[in-house]
Amino acid sequence: MLGERLPVELANTRYAVRGDPRDGLLTTEHLGAWLRDARDRFRTPLADDDLLGVSEAELDVARQLRDAVHELLTAVVAGTDPPQRAIGTVNRVARSVPRWPQLRWGELPTIESGTRGRPVAAALAEIADSAVDLFASPHRDLVRACHAPGCVLFFLKDHPRRTWCSEGCGNRARVARFHARRLAEG
Ligand SMILES: [Zn+2]
Repeated sequence: MLGERLPVELANTRYAVRGDPRDGLLTTEHLGAWLRDARDRFRTPLADDDLLGVSEAELDVARQLRDAVHELLTAVVAGTDPPQRAIGTVNRVARSVPRWPQLRWGELPTIESGTRGRPVAAALAEIADSAVDLFASPHRDLVRACHAPGCVLFFLKDHPRRTWCSEGCGNRARVARFHARRLAEG
């Protein structure tokens, strides 16, 4: 993960290896592992058993939400209108599980999300909430597609000098530029 907002991280489960498109969300185990990596960032508590018990239906919702957010990010970067269907999917997932804020008082007071639904479904709805917040806020204008060779990831340009999704991509882009210059100079 790149430390981006959850909807961007979810969209980035469509990635590429040397330009070859890959899908990091093909099985319920993939979704369980992805949610475990992001577990601390959800208000919905996700227990190990929840992550081991991800259902095919939840995988289906996650993939639909992922593809819808991907379409919205693509549209924002291209400066075009996003497909209504993608907006509909985000909204449908956001309202799919009723949730409410709960105060938890540990070392520091925190907000936990209460639900009578399945925690994984509630966590996916939380990502949809976060997508609604992102696309309806000025942060939308910070969405960028990484243009490093072979990379297809999105990121938020959270500081003016940031050009790449990751340091790794910045290094690869510099190496590629160096070789292009050597070739040009013959
Ligand atoms: Zn990149």
